Amino acid sequence: MENISNENKRQSLQILKKVFGYDSFRKGQEEIVESILNGQDVLGIMPTGAGKSICYQVPALMLKGITIVVSPLISLMLDQVKSLNEAGVHAAYINSALTETQISKALYNAMCGQYKIIYVAPERLETNRFLEFVMNADISMITVDEAHCISQWGQDFRPSYLKIVNLIKRLPKRPVVSAFTATATRTVKEDIVCILGLNSPNVMVTGFDRKNLYFEVRHSGTKDADVENYIRKHQTESGIIYCSTRKNVDNIYLSLKKCGFPVTRYHAGLSSEERKENQEDFIYDRKPIIVATNAFGMGIDKSNVRYVIHYNMPQCIENYYQEAGRAGRDGEPAECILLYSAQDVVINEFLIEHKGENTEFAEDELALIRENDIRRLNKMRYYCTTKNCLREYMLNYFGEYSTSQDCGNCSNCIAVYEDRNVTDICKRIIYCINECRGRYGANVIVGTLHGDRNAKLRSYNVDRLTSFGMCHDVNPALIKSAVEELVMREVVSETQDMYRLLRNTSQAVEITEGKTQIVIKWSLQKAEAKADKLRTRQKKSSMAFSPDTAEMALFEKLRGLRLKIAKEENMPPYIIFSDKTLVDMCVKRPSNRDEMLRVAGVGENKYQRYGQRFIEALKE
Ligand code: ADP
Ligand code: ZN
Repeated sequence: MENISNENKRQSLQILKKVFGYDSFRKGQEEIVESILNGQDVLGIMPTGAGKSICYQVPALMLKGITIVVSPLISLMLDQVKSLNEAGVHAAYINSALTETQISKALYNAMCGQYKIIYVAPERLETNRFLEFVMNADISMITVDEAHCISQWGQDFRPSYLKIVNLIKRLPKRPVVSAFTATATRTVKEDIVCILGLNSPNVMVTGFDRKNLYFEVRHSGTKDADVENYIRKHQTESGIIYCSTRKNVDNIYLSLKKCGFPVTRYHAGLSSEERKENQEDFIYDRKPIIVATNAFGMGIDKSNVRYVIHYNMPQCIENYYQEAGRAGRDGEPAECILLYSAQDVVINEFLIEHKGENTEFAEDELALIRENDIRRLNKMRYYCTTKNCLREYMLNYFGEYSTSQDCGNCSNCIAVYEDRNVTDICKRIIYCINECRGRYGANVIVGTLHGDRNAKLRSYNVDRLTSFGMCHDVNPALIKSAVEELVMREVVSETQDMYRLLRNTSQAVEITEGKTQIVIKWSLQKAEAKADKLRTRQKKSSMAFSPDTAEMALFEKLRGLRLKIAKEENMPPYIIFSDKTLVDMCVKRPSNRDEMLRVAGVGENKYQRYGQRFIEALKE
């Protein structure tokens, strides 16, 4: 047993190096590969960019028969198959983008043993032709990508995923089943294990932490200017700006275009040709900036995205982490910035309220789904208002716990805060809410306590209340933060309509009776300038490579060569080599085959195709 496992280890490492060009497995990958090779089912819960594909592609090449990968996204299949072919692995895909003749041909080739890995769309699983193929072929493994699609509690339930279960049951010999997802709430996890019928699976939650990503939440009343300034400061970099509506996408796209930035856009309102063209402009770096709705990005594996800006708050942490996670897939430093305004919450609630209308769901099912969505939305909101480490917050959400409280690479960890005991202010807030009998939202409560005399407050006659001006000497922003803290702790609840009226919950007595103290982090100064400095330092020190001008020039030269080859081959540049691989070339300066093969991301096949040209470029 020991020997087999050592032998497996040796062989899998060899394939990792030879085919994919990597020296070692990332955390979690090795265990997953080993389980699969031992015939044990696995459920890998890993965030976007953590390297799920390697987890099933390496064993797929070692197993005797064929691996079927069920994947919901055509663009993703295309990318994966392209990458595999580049690495010298024979793979194919079967989906609705192919004609019947093409499908027949692919399945015929598969029968003849041409492919080790076949990607297939879930709708295709029960077609006669496909069934005939799997019943007669030697299927070693079924891999289910984006496995959360099988759960009704996930963000994108796909009924056709249920077909996978039937397929597995029908096969003459049960293959090993491996499932992967980036979603990790408990219900979804349980659903995947139960519905897919995983056999005492090795469940690996791993690698949610993306150390190279800097996270920031900015409470902003000037989002347009923020976006523009940011892009101006990062002119040479590729980035994504996500908006919640098509209208926002169009507006920002037009204003950035006016500024002369190389920008394109993507949303479901554009024709499919235009979407395709724009997506390619982005991927091929002809237009390295894209403004898009969340319709964009599924299956996009562009590794050199240096920033992801959210113009609007997404509906849940799962979506946010996935979208933000499209930054920095090459492992180099990248930034994820969320521009928050309270308005975003209202818009999202509206969307949730109207979600699922005219679908096959029954009313009570819909009610449950909405309830779940609202719960997730609240968690997203707390992310935007917490003063604690943003990374820690998200890791906890996904069920991972880190040891440190201070990651040093998020806007909260690098800001300068002071602990402020606001228990007294909170008592007054609770008093004021009581006095208003739940008729007002946060802004009126804050204005009342501060004793403001504007027209709106006057029309409510709040100046007659005892609480009017009770906190006249406190900074209104601090009162507001205290209100947010109370909402987050569920001492105060908000109505779920657009008015967001505040009410005290039963927990309020804990505070009024002095049983609980409330301490919040209060930013000492508008620390942005300072934070900026700190960040630059952080960014430098976390880079393995802090290039001087000569090295920058070399890197640019290699990028140029990559772009040239990409054009010749009609491939996206990052499929030829990632930025990280180019950086590694700049550091290692390989001058022969052996040295080139030591560069991260250079496998045998890629060496044969491009190695020599890069060595020559490095020599010059
Ligand atoms: P996921 O499917 O989890 O979103 P991918 O499988 O696309 O992520 O991998 C993300 C990136 O990480 C890819 O560029 C991939 O080549 C790279 N990668 C994966 N595993 C390793 C490894 N062991 N060493 C170095 N790079 C890796
Ligand atoms: Zn942090």
